[in-house]
Amino acid sequence: MTLFDWQKPLWQRLLADREKLPHALLLAGPEGLGKLAFGRSLAARLLCEQAPQVPGGMACGKCSACIWLASGNHPDFRLIQPEDDDEAEAAGDGASLPAAPRKPGQGQIRVDQIRSLEDFVFVGSHRHGNRVVLIAPAELMNPAGANCLLKILEEPPSGVYFILVSSHWRRLLPTVLSRCRSLVFGRPDQDAAERWLAGQGVSAAAELLQLAGGAPLIAADWAEQGRLDAYRKVIAALAEKPVDPVAMAAKWAALLKAEQGFALPQLVEAVQKWVFDMAMLKIAGHCRYHEAWRGQLEQLAAAASGTGLMACYNDLLRIRAVARHPLNTQLFLEDMAARYLRALTTGRS
Ligand SMILES: [Zn+2]
Repeated sequence: MTLFDWQKPLWQRLLADREKLPHALLLAGPEGLGKLAFGRSLAARLLCEQAPQVPGGMACGKCSACIWLASGNHPDFRLIQPEDDDEAEAAGDGASLPAAPRKPGQGQIRVDQIRSLEDFVFVGSHRHGNRVVLIAPAELMNPAGANCLLKILEEPPSGVYFILVSSHWRRLLPTVLSRCRSLVFGRPDQDAAERWLAGQGVSAAAELLQLAGGAPLIAADWAEQGRLDAYRKVIAALAEKPVDPVAMAAKWAALLKAEQGFALPQLVEAVQKWVFDMAMLKIAGHCRYHEAWRGQLEQLAAAASGTGLMACYNDLLRIRAVARHPLNTQLFLEDMAARYLRALTTGRS
């Protein structure tokens, strides 16, 4: 188990008073900062039989508890994740793909998964130590599951620790939130994040980091997938003088065909960030993702209004939900291009 550099102050603060570790902890913050890895490290620390002797408060990695945990067999540890949607784990941390439209119950943490914790929590520990439940992404608990968890959190036995991980913690029930102590992860400062990326062998770290909104793990993931080149081409297409929706959609379709690893959800996200930056330039005079393209952004947005661009941004957010499985890709692209061009030319969408 390791901690990322930017997590160390949080870790030290959390463990400064080990006697007062909360029974329910929420690890909250944007995606791509390693919250789930932090949660796993904390679980390991709580279960490790040698932890008090290890400097820095990490798990030892060598005792039998650590070995059991690493092999996925520790009887006093439970990891609760959506079972029937392998994309949901990625959505919890470190990835930026939009959520797919879900069938009822799909991609959720169901009530029976939470109910199965009752025996685990209220029957004694197997190894006479702590017990840890890690729930990620916690916002994917369905309402019945969240209510079931709430009952368990009302009277947790001593030695039982709940760690909830969430990038969308405002979707959690307020009653669940009120039972947790929150540990909020902020984006690391640019220098630290670039240093870390460089240490991972990532080139063009500054550019990737900005495109990833300052989230180092997303930037590293994109670098690994070789997505920067494709991203640059998409931005170059966006930066050109707009034509009509059909031509624009055709250009996007050609890019999707040519660039492996850059599918429709990524394209929607790229357009969304592009529009977001135009709106930010209009409203606040700075941009988050595309500083290097500021000139083109300003030129394109000359006839648009900040509110119209934000409306378009919100539209894109909505259509992102179906971008993974559109009924008709061509129509989807034309619709997106029309929304985009309308925002640019009329200030409204
Ligand atoms: Zn250990």
